[in-house]
Amino acid sequence: MALDRAELKRQSDAFEDASLAEILQWAWEALGPRVAFGTAFGTSGMVLLDVIQKQVPQIPIFTIDTGFLFQETLDLKARVEKKYGIEIESVLPRLTIEEQDHDYGAELYQSDSDRCCWIRKVEPLQRKLGELDGWINSRRRDQGSTRKDIPILEYYETDSRALLKLNPMATWTRKKTWDYILEHEVPYNPLMDQGYASVGCWPCTRPAGADADERAGRWAGQAKTECGIHTFLQPIEPADGVAVDAE
Ligand code: SF4
Repeated sequence: MALDRAELKRQSDAFEDASLAEILQWAWEALGPRVAFGTAFGTSGMVLLDVIQKQVPQIPIFTIDTGFLFQETLDLKARVEKKYGIEIESVLPRLTIEEQDHDYGAELYQSDSDRCCWIRKVEPLQRKLGELDGWINSRRRDQGSTRKDIPILEYYETDSRALLKLNPMATWTRKKTWDYILEHEVPYNPLMDQGYASVGCWPCTRPAGADADERAGRWAGQAKTECGIHTFLQPIEPADGVAVDAE
Protein backbone atom coordinates (compact mmCIF):
# COMPACT_ATOMS: atom_id res chain seq x y z
CA MET A 1 0.00 0.00 0.00
CA ALA A 2 1.39 3.40 -0.94
CA LEU A 3 0.92 6.31 1.44
CA ASP A 4 -0.21 9.41 -0.37
CA ARG A 5 -0.50 12.82 1.27
CA ALA A 6 -3.92 12.26 2.83
CA GLU A 7 -3.06 8.80 4.08
CA LEU A 8 0.20 9.99 5.61
CA LYS A 9 -1.62 12.72 7.51
CA ARG A 10 -4.38 10.35 8.60
CA GLN A 11 -1.84 7.78 9.79
CA SER A 12 0.23 10.44 11.54
CA ASP A 13 -2.85 11.82 13.31
CA ALA A 14 -3.91 8.30 14.30
CA PHE A 15 -0.53 7.80 15.95
CA GLU A 16 -1.07 10.79 18.28
CA ASP A 17 -2.57 8.38 20.81
CA ALA A 18 -0.57 5.30 19.87
CA SER A 19 2.10 3.66 21.98
CA LEU A 20 5.74 3.77 20.91
CA ALA A 21 5.56 0.03 20.29
CA GLU A 22 2.62 0.44 17.89
CA ILE A 23 4.40 3.12 15.85
CA LEU A 24 7.66 1.17 15.75
CA GLN A 25 5.91 -2.06 14.79
CA TRP A 26 4.13 -0.24 11.97
CA ALA A 27 7.45 1.18 10.76
CA TRP A 28 9.07 -2.23 10.69
CA GLU A 29 6.14 -3.84 8.88
CA ALA A 30 6.08 -0.98 6.38
CA LEU A 31 9.78 -0.67 5.63
CA GLY A 32 11.68 -3.63 7.12
CA PRO A 33 15.44 -3.12 7.22
CA ARG A 34 15.09 0.05 5.09
CA VAL A 35 14.12 1.85 8.32
CA ALA A 36 16.62 2.63 11.10
CA PHE A 37 16.80 4.55 14.36
CA GLY A 38 19.46 7.24 14.64
CA THR A 39 20.43 8.31 18.14
CA ALA A 40 22.94 10.46 20.00
CA PHE A 41 22.01 8.71 23.29
CA GLY A 42 20.03 11.59 24.77
CA THR A 43 17.22 10.88 27.21
CA SER A 44 14.48 10.55 24.56
CA GLY A 45 16.77 8.41 22.48
CA MET A 46 17.40 6.09 25.39
CA VAL A 47 13.66 5.59 25.91
CA LEU A 48 13.17 4.78 22.25
CA LEU A 49 16.18 2.48 22.23
CA ASP A 50 14.79 0.58 25.23
CA VAL A 51 11.35 0.18 23.62
CA ILE A 52 12.91 -0.92 20.33
CA GLN A 53 14.95 -3.58 22.08
CA LYS A 54 11.93 -4.85 24.01
CA GLN A 55 9.33 -4.66 21.25
CA VAL A 56 10.89 -4.48 17.76
CA PRO A 57 14.55 -5.43 18.16
CA GLN A 58 14.94 -6.02 14.42
CA ILE A 59 15.11 -2.26 13.83
CA PRO A 60 18.76 -1.28 13.16
CA ILE A 61 20.33 1.51 15.22
CA PHE A 62 23.07 3.92 14.23
CA THR A 63 24.83 6.93 15.69
CA ILE A 64 26.93 9.68 14.14
CA ASP A 65 30.34 9.64 15.82
CA THR A 66 31.69 13.12 15.19
CA GLY A 67 35.03 12.36 16.84
CA PHE A 68 34.16 15.03 19.41
CA LEU A 69 31.86 12.96 21.61
CA PHE A 70 32.37 12.99 25.36
CA GLN A 71 34.04 9.89 26.76
CA GLU A 72 30.87 9.47 28.88
CA THR A 73 28.83 9.19 25.67
CA LEU A 74 31.16 6.61 24.17
CA ASP A 75 31.03 4.66 27.45
CA LEU A 76 27.22 4.83 27.40
CA LYS A 77 27.18 3.38 23.88
CA ALA A 78 29.36 0.49 25.06
CA ARG A 79 27.14 -0.04 28.10
CA VAL A 80 24.00 -0.10 25.98
CA GLU A 81 25.52 -2.57 23.51
CA LYS A 82 26.43 -4.87 26.37
CA LYS A 83 23.10 -4.56 28.22
CA TYR A 84 20.97 -5.30 25.16
CA GLY A 85 23.45 -7.55 23.33
CA ILE A 86 23.41 -5.37 20.22
CA GLU A 87 25.84 -3.57 17.97
CA ILE A 88 25.15 0.07 17.17
CA GLU A 89 26.61 1.27 13.89
CA SER A 90 28.93 4.28 14.20
CA VAL A 91 28.75 6.43 11.09
CA LEU A 92 31.94 8.48 10.74
CA PRO A 93 32.79 11.75 8.98
CA ARG A 94 34.91 11.45 5.83
CA LEU A 95 37.65 13.56 7.46
CA THR A 96 39.46 12.67 10.66
CA ILE A 97 39.86 15.55 13.09
CA GLU A 98 43.51 15.80 12.06
CA GLU A 99 42.55 16.04 8.38
CA GLN A 100 39.92 18.66 9.19
CA ASP A 101 42.47 20.67 11.19
CA HIS A 102 44.84 20.48 8.22
CA ASP A 103 42.23 21.51 5.63
CA TYR A 104 40.26 24.12 7.59
CA GLY A 105 42.41 25.06 10.59
CA ALA A 106 42.30 23.90 14.18
CA GLU A 107 39.16 24.37 16.24
CA LEU A 108 36.84 24.78 13.27
CA TYR A 109 33.99 24.48 15.79
CA GLN A 110 34.98 27.95 16.96
CA SER A 111 35.76 29.63 13.65
CA ASP A 112 32.91 28.09 11.60
CA SER A 113 30.65 25.81 13.61
CA ASP A 114 28.18 25.41 10.73
CA ARG A 115 30.93 24.01 8.51
CA CYS A 116 32.18 21.78 11.32
CA CYS A 117 28.64 20.43 11.89
CA TRP A 118 28.24 19.86 8.17
CA ILE A 119 31.47 17.87 7.91
CA ARG A 120 31.07 15.90 11.11
CA LYS A 121 27.29 15.44 11.40
CA VAL A 122 25.20 16.38 8.39
CA GLU A 123 27.23 14.82 5.57
CA PRO A 124 27.65 11.49 7.41
CA LEU A 125 23.92 11.43 8.14
CA GLN A 126 23.08 12.26 4.54
CA ARG A 127 25.24 9.36 3.44
CA LYS A 128 23.53 7.00 5.89
CA LEU A 129 20.05 8.14 4.90
CA GLY A 130 20.91 7.28 1.31
CA GLU A 131 20.60 3.63 2.39
CA LEU A 132 17.18 4.13 3.99
CA ASP A 133 13.52 4.79 3.23
CA GLY A 134 12.66 5.62 6.85
CA TRP A 135 14.53 7.48 9.60
CA ILE A 136 13.35 7.12 13.18
CA ASN A 137 14.52 9.84 15.55
CA SER A 138 13.63 10.91 19.06
CA ARG A 139 12.72 14.61 18.84
CA ARG A 140 9.94 15.86 21.12
CA ARG A 141 7.65 18.84 20.64
CA ASP A 142 8.52 20.24 24.07
CA GLN A 143 12.22 20.55 23.20
CA GLY A 144 11.87 24.06 21.81
CA SER A 145 10.20 26.30 19.30
CA THR A 146 11.81 24.64 16.27
CA ARG A 147 10.27 21.33 17.29
CA LYS A 148 6.89 22.32 18.70
CA ASP A 149 4.87 21.40 15.61
CA ILE A 150 6.55 18.21 14.43
CA PRO A 151 4.09 15.54 13.29
CA ILE A 152 4.68 11.89 14.06
CA LEU A 153 5.13 11.04 10.38
CA GLU A 154 6.52 13.34 7.71
CA TYR A 155 8.09 13.04 4.29
CA TYR A 156 11.43 14.73 3.63
CA GLU A 157 12.85 15.43 0.24
CA THR A 158 16.24 14.01 -0.65
CA ASP A 159 18.05 14.33 -3.97
CA SER A 160 15.99 11.70 -5.68
CA ARG A 161 13.13 10.55 -3.51
CA ALA A 162 10.97 11.05 -0.47
CA LEU A 163 12.23 9.81 2.87
CA LEU A 164 9.79 8.97 5.65
CA LYS A 165 10.85 10.59 8.92
CA LEU A 166 9.28 9.16 12.04
CA ASN A 167 9.06 11.10 15.30
CA PRO A 168 7.46 8.57 17.69
CA MET A 169 8.47 10.62 20.78
CA ALA A 170 6.84 13.82 19.48
CA THR A 171 4.02 13.78 22.04
CA TRP A 172 6.22 12.88 25.01
CA THR A 173 7.27 15.41 27.64
CA ARG A 174 10.57 15.80 29.44
CA LYS A 175 8.96 14.55 32.67
CA LYS A 176 7.41 11.49 31.03
CA THR A 177 10.78 10.70 29.44
CA TRP A 178 12.62 10.85 32.76
CA ASP A 179 9.84 8.91 34.53
CA TYR A 180 10.26 6.11 31.99
CA ILE A 181 14.06 6.08 32.34
CA LEU A 182 13.92 5.86 36.11
CA GLU A 183 11.05 3.38 36.28
CA HIS A 184 12.61 1.02 33.72
CA GLU A 185 16.19 1.57 34.86
CA VAL A 186 17.27 2.62 31.39
CA PRO A 187 20.94 3.66 31.17
CA TYR A 188 21.55 7.36 30.58
CA ASN A 189 24.48 9.69 30.19
CA PRO A 190 26.02 10.44 33.63
CA LEU A 191 26.70 14.01 32.44
CA MET A 192 22.96 14.60 32.90
CA ASP A 193 23.60 14.33 36.64
CA GLN A 194 26.31 17.00 36.35
CA GLY A 195 24.08 19.79 35.09
CA TYR A 196 24.06 19.05 31.36
CA ALA A 197 20.58 19.53 29.92
CA SER A 198 21.53 17.67 26.74
CA VAL A 199 24.80 16.24 25.53
CA GLY A 200 26.40 16.77 22.13
CA CYS A 201 30.04 17.30 21.14
CA TRP A 202 32.33 18.31 23.99
CA PRO A 203 33.60 21.56 22.40
CA CYS A 204 30.03 22.84 21.96
CA THR A 205 28.20 21.63 25.06
CA ARG A 206 28.16 23.30 28.46
CA PRO A 207 26.32 22.45 31.68
CA ALA A 208 23.18 24.57 31.80
CA GLY A 209 21.63 23.51 35.09
CA ALA A 210 19.06 20.85 35.81
CA ASP A 211 16.05 23.09 35.17
CA ALA A 212 17.35 24.76 32.02
CA ASP A 213 15.74 24.32 28.61
CA GLU A 214 16.79 21.04 27.15
CA ARG A 215 18.72 22.61 24.27
CA ALA A 216 20.41 25.13 26.57
CA GLY A 217 24.15 24.65 26.85
CA ARG A 218 24.52 23.73 23.16
CA TRP A 219 26.60 26.28 21.20
CA ALA A 220 26.43 28.61 24.22
CA GLY A 221 26.98 32.20 23.18
CA GLN A 222 25.91 31.56 19.58
CA ALA A 223 22.50 32.01 17.95
CA LYS A 224 22.80 28.44 16.71
CA THR A 225 20.33 25.96 18.26
CA GLU A 226 20.39 23.10 15.75
CA CYS A 227 23.38 21.36 14.20
CA GLY A 228 21.61 20.91 10.89
CA ILE A 229 20.78 17.22 10.96
CA HIS A 230 17.10 18.03 11.41
CA THR A 231 17.04 21.03 9.10
CA PHE A 232 19.09 20.13 6.03
CA LEU A 233 16.13 18.38 4.44
CA GLN A 234 12.87 20.16 3.78
CA PRO A 235 9.55 18.56 4.70
CA ILE A 236 7.39 18.04 1.64
CA GLU A 237 3.79 17.39 0.95
CA PRO A 238 4.17 14.39 -1.32
CA ALA A 239 2.00 14.28 -4.36
CA ASP A 240 -0.20 11.23 -4.77
CA GLY A 241 1.98 8.31 -5.62
CA VAL A 242 5.13 9.46 -3.80
CA ALA A 243 5.08 6.35 -1.82
CA VAL A 244 6.34 4.36 1.05
CA ASP A 245 5.18 0.77 0.88
CA ALA A 246 3.18 0.10 4.00
CA GLU A 247 1.80 -3.40 4.12
FE1 SF4 B 1 31.72 20.51 15.38
FE2 SF4 B 1 30.55 21.49 17.58
FE3 SF4 B 1 29.09 20.77 15.44
FE4 SF4 B 1 30.28 18.92 16.97
S1 SF4 B 1 28.59 20.33 17.57
S2 SF4 B 1 30.22 18.93 14.77
S3 SF4 B 1 32.22 19.97 17.49
S4 SF4 B 1 30.58 22.47 15.58
